Amino acid sequence: MVKKGKQEKTPKPNFTEDELLLRLKKHYPEPWIDLKFETPFQLLVVTILAAQETDKKVNEISPRFFKIFPDPYSIASATLEEIEECIKSINYYRRKAKLLKDCCKVLVEKFNGEVPDNIDDLVKLPGVGRKTASVILVNAFNKPAIVVDTHVKRVSKRLGLTNSDNPEKIERDLANFFSKENWVYISKALVLFGRYICTARKPKCKECHLSDICPYENKNL
Ligand code: SF4
Repeated sequence: MVKKGKQEKTPKPNFTEDELLLRLKKHYPEPWIDLKFETPFQLLVVTILAAQETDKKVNEISPRFFKIFPDPYSIASATLEEIEECIKSINYYRRKAKLLKDCCKVLVEKFNGEVPDNIDDLVKLPGVGRKTASVILVNAFNKPAIVVDTHVKRVSKRLGLTNSDNPEKIERDLANFFSKENWVYISKALVLFGRYICTARKPKCKECHLSDICPYENKNL
């Protein structure tokens, strides 16, 4: 758990959790994740590949990748060149090939080839930070976690759910605002909402169901 700093201010949104959820569910009654996967292992791999790359591009190469590398053992025992060959159309493929190999070695050696379902063990894996760990918990295990990616950061600030740029503080502010039972939903929905509606440039405020409660000064109305 992240410790609370002395200087931190707690944001006070002028709406309730229920008011926000009601509006967000109009956009995303059943939120999804754009990355395609079938198992926790596959989600771990595609999430590592998706850093600074589009989900679309990762989805294009992942079926072939998983035919060649169906489990952590096959990646751990492959050469770097074999892994690179399979992902060479992906940004930073050399670095990611090494991360995948290192990560799968740890999975094999310490976790019996199984992706752990808790954040403390997930963040021990090379290439897995708190954000990736939360993505895996929420989407592969349906376990409560708060995903703070670039979209969630932006949306949270615009809505006044946080006044910080620090991912750990943002995570704490969101965890304080939303009940734990809603963390899975909110983690999925805020990513989509930021990606497709409350976009970095020209947010779609005219079609946004949250515009009546959103305090953002530069709304695109
Ligand atoms: S009104 Fe605009 S800025 Fe506010 S949440 Fe909606 S899209 Fe984002």
